[in-house]
Amino acid sequence: MSVQAITNGMSLLTLDNPVLPSHYEIKLNLEPNSVTAKSSIKITMSKNDKMVASAKEDLKQFRLHSKDLKIANAFIVDEDSNKKLLLKWKEDVNTNLLTLNSEEAIPFKDNHFFLHIEYDATVKIIKTHEDKTYGIFKTNFMKQSSESSIADNVIISTHCQPSYAKTIFPCVDEPSIKTSFQLTLETPSQFKTISNTGIKSEEKLKSGRTVTTFKTTPLMSTSVFGFAAGDFDFIKSEVEMPISKKKIPLCVYAPDNIDFTVFTLDTIQKYLPLLENYFNKEYPLDKLDFVLLPFLSDMAMENFGMVSILMNHLTLPPQALANDNIREQCQQLIVHELVHQWFGNFITYESWEYLWFNESFATWLASVLLTETGDSPSYWTSNAYLQQHMYITMENEISNPSILSIIEQSKRSMNSEIIETSDVFNAHSYAKGIAILRSLQLTIGDELLKKGIQTFINDEKNHTHSIKPMDMWTQVGSTLKSANIANYFASWSRLQGVPIVHVEVETDGNNEISYKLTQHRYYHGEQDEIEDIPYHIPLFILNEDGSEDRNNVLFTDRTLIINGKKDLVLLNHNGQGYYKVSYESETLYDSICKQLLANKLNGVDLFTIMKDIKSFIGDEKYQKPIHFDGLFKILRTLCSPEIQLDETSVYWYGLNVGLDIIQKIDRYERTFKNVSMDKISQTLTSEIFIPFMNKIDWPKDFSKIKENVSTEQLECMSQIMFLNRQHGTIIKKCDTYFQKMLNGPKQCIPIELVNSILTVYCSNMTSLKQWKKLINVMDETSESNKEILQHLIENSDNLNKYEINFQFIKNSILENIGFTSKEELMERNLRYINEHIGSMNIEYILIGINYNSNGGDGDANEKNIKSIEEWYLTNLPNWIKIGMKLKNTIKNISLIVFQIVNNKKSFVDKLTRFKGNSLGIDFISYYSLATAEINSQKLIIEDLNKVL
Ligand SMILES: [Zn+2]
Repeated sequence: MSVQAITNGMSLLTLDNPVLPSHYEIKLNLEPNSVTAKSSIKITMSKNDKMVASAKEDLKQFRLHSKDLKIANAFIVDEDSNKKLLLKWKEDVNTNLLTLNSEEAIPFKDNHFFLHIEYDATVKIIKTHEDKTYGIFKTNFMKQSSESSIADNVIISTHCQPSYAKTIFPCVDEPSIKTSFQLTLETPSQFKTISNTGIKSEEKLKSGRTVTTFKTTPLMSTSVFGFAAGDFDFIKSEVEMPISKKKIPLCVYAPDNIDFTVFTLDTIQKYLPLLENYFNKEYPLDKLDFVLLPFLSDMAMENFGMVSILMNHLTLPPQALANDNIREQCQQLIVHELVHQWFGNFITYESWEYLWFNESFATWLASVLLTETGDSPSYWTSNAYLQQHMYITMENEISNPSILSIIEQSKRSMNSEIIETSDVFNAHSYAKGIAILRSLQLTIGDELLKKGIQTFINDEKNHTHSIKPMDMWTQVGSTLKSANIANYFASWSRLQGVPIVHVEVETDGNNEISYKLTQHRYYHGEQDEIEDIPYHIPLFILNEDGSEDRNNVLFTDRTLIINGKKDLVLLNHNGQGYYKVSYESETLYDSICKQLLANKLNGVDLFTIMKDIKSFIGDEKYQKPIHFDGLFKILRTLCSPEIQLDETSVYWYGLNVGLDIIQKIDRYERTFKNVSMDKISQTLTSEIFIPFMNKIDWPKDFSKIKENVSTEQLECMSQIMFLNRQHGTIIKKCDTYFQKMLNGPKQCIPIELVNSILTVYCSNMTSLKQWKKLINVMDETSESNKEILQHLIENSDNLNKYEINFQFIKNSILENIGFTSKEELMERNLRYINEHIGSMNIEYILIGINYNSNGGDGDANEKNIKSIEEWYLTNLPNWIKIGMKLKNTIKNISLIVFQIVNNKKSFVDKLTRFKGNSLGIDFISYYSLATAEINSQKLIIEDLNKVL
């Protein structure tokens, strides 16, 4: 035994109660108009074999969990003699413990006795989405089709996870104990009633009420107990299962819009048999229902045999189903809940600290099946997984020093009071869990992993007792005769952070090459802050012929030397590993480029390489000159004639990231204009900017080709436009684009290009007339501007990524209008900021000014900086006087101005007079922030100088 979980600062009943429930018989009486349910329960109490010490003593006292229950009677019945032994009880509202006492020793028969309790349970009324749906809850609703105007339909349902069963019946509300349940409900006869199992008997009473008794459940935890009753509509079907050969009835219940749930029923019908096959274990129940509810705080709950889901998630009109994303997300949700029927319900985790694993496993396996069937064919290499899931998780773990190992995190959350499922659910551990499972699947292979999981789930003891995830991996490992599996799992759940693998190529005297891999923890804290223990990293090495290296699969030591191999192209193929790779030899970039030239490198791999390089650049600890070398090699290759960059190319994603880095460099290059930057600037222009510009086929307008062009391609085009903003070809193109952007025709300029078109326009703007024209476009009241907005909205297919409203137009203009290099217009811009100081995002104007302030030549530059400095110092006292509502604007303005002014002692001295200002802004610390930013820029420029 090693249950370490602590609930409410107390030890678990499972550990120190002399008796524990082994079976519950619950009777509830549901009245549509009552806020209480008259109830009774018979609990089979059995000796707790985990508590050896007290076994010999006479039992007179024991405890149960109970919350908001009004107990009326408690007694023990000897079923042979029918003798009743009355109990006294005491409730502690702080600990939710119910202590039951007997004056005489409680008689056991075959190590158990029958406890009876009569009580009232509370029914919560739910009126809005803010009301929490825990315990028993009730809501009134009106059907859309209803002719009456009264919400006279009733839905009653339950939610027990993590520990709300104790508000429905007295119990031991801990996942480490599994019992069977039998429920009887008395309801108005017109109610549909649903619970974990099928109906055993129904009795209609004369009073117009029906008593429904459900079949006894398999062993399960209190958290997945549930029922629903009320005015439901339903659709049903049945499915023959492949292993048991049983026909399982399937049903979807909804208060309304039942026609829109057909897709849900179809999906259940398709995937339930697939899961039975996957586990080679029969579906544990005799039916499965999905119950859609108008309110549900946790959105979805996998009650055993009765999944409940917030209604609008699965009532899908045809137009929603036509959208691939929506359809796939719904399938994900449904199959996830189906996986739980086996893992999470039939198999139970003994403590809430493992909730992350329960959830990761369900999502992982759902994705495996959806990929196999082709419903979500490329999920693991999709944006949804790689960008929105994997990278966000890794970046989070790197940038957030408080992210602890999964084990520590889970224990921390267990030490505070558990109120809602979200208290024990850690989104980061969940996300990382999916990545760990995915890596494991690829490393040991689908079939072997499946075999291990099948052995585990078919072992009866894993059903009768709650388990730990580690138990599973130990057993899977021993089935497959591999100790690595348990070690792998332990490594990833114990070690926080993300590993970085450095790859170097070494050549010996005989010209034999070998690859040297070194791993460390990728982090930004102090050196000695965290132990640098090697991880168990699945490498996913890609060979030149497109196969994966099966000899070097798992990397568990500090270093690994790979000899006698010549064909390594890259690591972390398809981005499936949870680690970063730093390639540190030219040879490595050469083989990547060779694959590129042969059009054999896949888009995901290019993207992954670029993402890693991007995270090293500007990072004092990890940036190396070789990263720039590699980046330029790859970009030059992408420019070469062998590579086609058109609508069919898979390289836009990666190029997009690469050009992000170049944009960063382009900006710094201007900051350090005087620090021998000419060479860098010339090289970038001649080797990157112009070749990419020439490689793109710039259309007159986009109205004809728009459908075929991806967002990533458009974003790359936008970046290339930006980088070439001083080039005649682009200036001319953008003149046309700018006019079309403002005047149409419809659909001719994609929204992705708007910002860069404005940059080019503003960079080359020379007259006051042009400036005023842009300022006028920001006038929300003008009719012609409303047309422009309408026109831009029509240009956008991707409303998720770009929210197009008037503020979008304003922001774009504010961000770009400062790009003018005309002195007179810059003065105008500064004045404009001051005159409109309270208006939203007005400080954006400084972004362009910052870009250009250092870019001018010699004297003019000095003069510019001087006038910005003066402008700031003159106006700052007035802004401070305006008060708190300007605090953030002042902070933002200061940060940019400090970067522009860049390390001038006289300026810092002037700032000291704002010490103790009424807004409490610490200008000096902002100054150091700006300086730190400049220092990281310096680092980039220094390394760049080494390679160019
Ligand atoms: Zn789940």
